[in-house]
Amino acid sequence: MAEAVIFLGPPGAGKGTQAKRLASEMGFKQLSTGDILRSHVARGTELGKLAKPIMDAGKLVPDEIILGLIGAELAAMPDPKVIFDGFPRTLAQAEALDRLLQEQHIRLLGVLLVTAPEDELVRRLLGRALEEGRSDDNEETIRARMTEYRQKTQPLVDYYKKTGSLKEINGLGKVDEVYQAIQEALGVRA
Ligand code: ADP
Repeated sequence: MAEAVIFLGPPGAGKGTQAKRLASEMGFKQLSTGDILRSHVARGTELGKLAKPIMDAGKLVPDEIILGLIGAELAAMPDPKVIFDGFPRTLAQAEALDRLLQEQHIRLLGVLLVTAPEDELVRRLLGRALEEGRSDDNEETIRARMTEYRQKTQPLVDYYKKTGSLKEINGLGKVDEVYQAIQEALGVRA
């Protein structure tokens, strides 16, 4: 049966790391809108050229573009089993995703809210800046990304609380501890 998991949380919470592991262990496909956009930027596509300055400013890429990307990915999967990482990030994206899930009979297994205190998030992102050299991991952009998260993405916490899908995960522990909490929350522990 078609199934999906959503990862929600601020930049630096560890969504990508956890989503990747969960996807490989569950045999799901990880759909990271950030990774898809970065691949467009690296390849210098039209979309990449449009998205790069927005990403470097720490702002959100327009909903229509993101929804186009997600729609195309889902359309290419006959029996989708997906982990959404970094999507949805706005109420409009969440509502559009609800419609897609309904139309394609995809069951939402849970929305994992991974959080950590903001000073820890900033510390991690600055550390990653040294390791990976992501152009949006500098102090000014990080601050803008946190503001975008608070203003546009945080409202999704209430949205998914109301639907009963939200599972809160403490992102502060070791990678393995966080992963265990995620498995327990989803009821998929071996
Ligand atoms: P983070 O580590 O901040 O969670 P991501 O890799 O998920 O970063 O995203 C990096 C950037 O890509 C975002 O700051 C934003 O500009 C853009 N982006 C990624 N996903 C979305 C989305 N769902 N909606 C709008 N913009 C997005």
